[in-house]
Amino acid sequence: MALKLNRIGDNVYCIDAAVNMGLITGDGGEALLVDAGIDDSVSRKVKRIIEENGFKLKGIIITHAHADHCGGAPHLVKTTGARVFSNAYEKTVLEFPIWEPVYLFSGAYPPAPLRNKFLLAPGVKVDGVLEAGVQTPEGFEVEILDLSGHTPGQIGVAAGGVLFCADSVIAPGYIEKHGVPLNADIKKALKTLDLLEERSEGFFVPSHGDPVENIRPVVSANRKRILETVEYVMESLREPRTAEEVLAGVCDRFGIVMGNMTQYYLMNLTVMAYIGYLLDEGEITNFYESGRQFFRVKTA
Ligand SMILES: [Zn+2]
Repeated sequence: MALKLNRIGDNVYCIDAAVNMGLITGDGGEALLVDAGIDDSVSRKVKRIIEENGFKLKGIIITHAHADHCGGAPHLVKTTGARVFSNAYEKTVLEFPIWEPVYLFSGAYPPAPLRNKFLLAPGVKVDGVLEAGVQTPEGFEVEILDLSGHTPGQIGVAAGGVLFCADSVIAPGYIEKHGVPLNADIKKALKTLDLLEERSEGFFVPSHGDPVENIRPVVSANRKRILETVEYVMESLREPRTAEEVLAGVCDRFGIVMGNMTQYYLMNLTVMAYIGYLLDEGEITNFYESGRQFFRVKTA
């Protein structure tokens, strides 16, 4: 299916796809892409739509190092010479993509079912690191936002009255479908939601779901589900439980059916993020028995 280029701001477009992408254009027809899709078949279509509209791709900002956002980048770099930009943390994974399945598998070498295209992207060299603030990659003036939480170094890109907010929020419909949004750092994810509510852009583009003019209901739905999950984990740890038992409980509570290793380890990462958050907040504690690690709420 061909992709569509929708104008949503001053020289700003959204490319609707499984993972939405952004296109920021200059007066001379040069273009800066936000995210690159999962693979060559997506990036080929992206390249076609950019060129059919008379633009020339100069740069690609990758919001975070998940394969569905960066897997298409090597093909675009090879065929257009575009330069790649990311946050410093995400650069390490973009350039050594095996880190993604490695950290999911507790730091051990990941078995074949985890070395799939959703977790293991082809590597791409990052030409420039973007800090939060106003930046000018390839001469395009954009504001980079720290939207960490979903991943440790996720960034958002604001330009022309539009904010590309990556996976900092997912559409309410996706929350129901997935149960609990994927987050690596709960404290930062909540801070990022606060930040999004303060923004005054006229258009917000989450990677999954439709662009919206009002981000607040989307933020509220995401925050609500995070807080419900915190509450559920606290409740379940009134009894000592292992991390795997907490994970099973979260799946049960939010209607998540485990079907494969990719799904298991992504959900496991999310549950570990909640456990880590509650440990750091001083709400829960851990102990060891019969070679197992248990967590439970702290009693006064
Ligand atoms: Zn992601």
